[in-house]
Amino acid sequence: MSGTVRVVVVGGGYAGVMAANRLLARRSGGVGVPAPVDVVLVDPAPRFTERIRLHAVAAGARASAGRDWADVLHPRVRRVTARAVRLDTATRHVLLDDGARVPYDHAVLAVGSGARAGALHSVTDTAGAERTRAAIADLAPGEAVTVAGAGPTGLEVACAVAVARPDLSVTVVDPAGPPAGEPAVARRLARLRVDVVAGTVDPTTGAVTAVDGRTRAASPVTVWTVGFTVPGLAADSGLPVAPDGRLLVDETLTVPGHDHLVGAGDAVVVDSPRGAHLRMSCAAAIPLGAHAADTVLARVAGVPPRPLDVGFAALCLDLGAGHGHVRFVGRDDAPRPWAVRGRPAGWVKEGICRATVSWLAAEARRPGRYRTPVPGPAVPGASAPGPSVAADA
Ligand SMILES: Cc1cc2nc3c(=O)[nH]c(=O)nc-3n(C[C@H](O)[C@H](O)[C@H](O)COP(=O)(O)OP(=O)(O)OC[C@H]3O[C@@H](n4cnc5c(N)ncnc54)[C@H](O)[C@@H]3O)c2cc1C
Repeated sequence: MSGTVRVVVVGGGYAGVMAANRLLARRSGGVGVPAPVDVVLVDPAPRFTERIRLHAVAAGARASAGRDWADVLHPRVRRVTARAVRLDTATRHVLLDDGARVPYDHAVLAVGSGARAGALHSVTDTAGAERTRAAIADLAPGEAVTVAGAGPTGLEVACAVAVARPDLSVTVVDPAGPPAGEPAVARRLARLRVDVVAGTVDPTTGAVTAVDGRTRAASPVTVWTVGFTVPGLAADSGLPVAPDGRLLVDETLTVPGHDHLVGAGDAVVVDSPRGAHLRMSCAAAIPLGAHAADTVLARVAGVPPRPLDVGFAALCLDLGAGHGHVRFVGRDDAPRPWAVRGRPAGWVKEGICRATVSWLAAEARRPGRYRTPVPGPAVPGASAPGPSVAADA
C-alpha cells in the first residue's frame, strides 16, 4: 500500500482516545505498517471527560471531570469538534452536524453511552452531572434525593451525595434491594445513613413503588442510574445493531460486511463468545479501543486481525470520603470470594482511576505501548489468541 491511510475515530472517550493514539503506532502485533496513518478524532466535547468521576461531580465533591485533550491525546491526532450524525459507508465519509463530511479509509466507532431521555437527573455525561449538582445544591436540609438503581454507578452516586450533603435524606431504590453478597457495602451505606428500598422508580415521574406495595411520591431530586442507552449513530447509518441500538461487531471488532469499519467501547456488542462476558465499563473500553486500533493496523499491514482477548480482574467502587470496595472477579467477570474494603479499597480505586488516564497518556507518548496481563476467559473451540491486550479493574 502507498500513500497516507486516513482513519477517523468517532467519539473521544476511553475507547476512542486509546484507539486514536494507538493508530499512530507503526507496528501491530510485530508486523510493520507500510504507510503513514493520518488520524482524525471527531467529538463535540471541548475536553476529554473522565466519566468514571462524574458521580463525584454530581455530588459537588469534585469541580470537574474534564481533562485537556492534550493530557491524553497524541499531538498528531487531529481533532474535529463536532457531532457525527451518520456514516456514509458507500462513499466512506463521516457526516457531521455542521454539514462537513470527513473522508476515511477506515473508521472506528466509539460513541459510548448516555442516559435515557426523560425528566429525571443523570450522571452519565458532564452536562447531566452538572445539572444534577445544581439541583442537589438547591435542596434544603432534610430534603430527599432518590437514586434509581443499586448497581455500581447508583451506589457511587448515593455514597458521594451522602458524604457531601449529610443533611439530606438519601435513598437507593432497586428491585433487588441492597447489593447481594456485599455486606461491607451494606454497612457503608448504613453508616452514611443511606436508606435502601427494594422497589422500582417510575422513569418519568420519579415516584417509588416498593415491592411490598407501598408507594412514595417523587423526591425533589431523583438520579437515574439504570440502563444506559447508546447514541443512534450506528442505526442511523444502516449498520447492524442489537435490539438496544448497540453496534454489532465480530471477534476482531469489525462490523460484519464492512471491513473498513470497527467499533469499541460501550456503544458496541461483541457478537462472539469472546465478548459474551463484557459489560459496559471503562475497564473494557480501554482494551477494546486498543484492539480496534490493532485491527485497523493489521488490515493496513495486510495481515489477518487477531480475535479479541480481554478479561476482567476486579470491580471497584468509590464509596465516598476515601472509602471503597474492590471485589475480585474472574476473567469472565464472575465474582471471586475475595474483596478489599474500606480505606485500602479507596486507595486502590483512586489508583485505578488515575491509571486510566495514565494509560491513555502513555499511549499518546509512545503509541503501541499499552498492554495488560489479563486475558479473556477460555472460549471453547476458539482459535488460540495472540498476545493479549486486557482489562484493568
Ligand atoms: C458515574 C460513573 C461512574 C463510572 N464508574 C466506572 C468504574 O468505576 N469502572 C468502570 O469500568 N466503568 C465505570 N463507568 C462506566 C464508564 O464510564 C463507561 O463504560 C466508559 O466511559 C465507556 O467508554 P467509551 O469510550 O465507550 O465511551 P465514553 O467514555 O462515553 O465516550 C464516548 C465519547 O463519544 C462522544 N460522542 C457521543 N456521540 C457522538 C457522536 N455522534 N459523534 C462524535 N462523538 C460522539 C462523547 O462526547 C464522548 O466523548 C462509570 C460511568 C459513570 C457514568
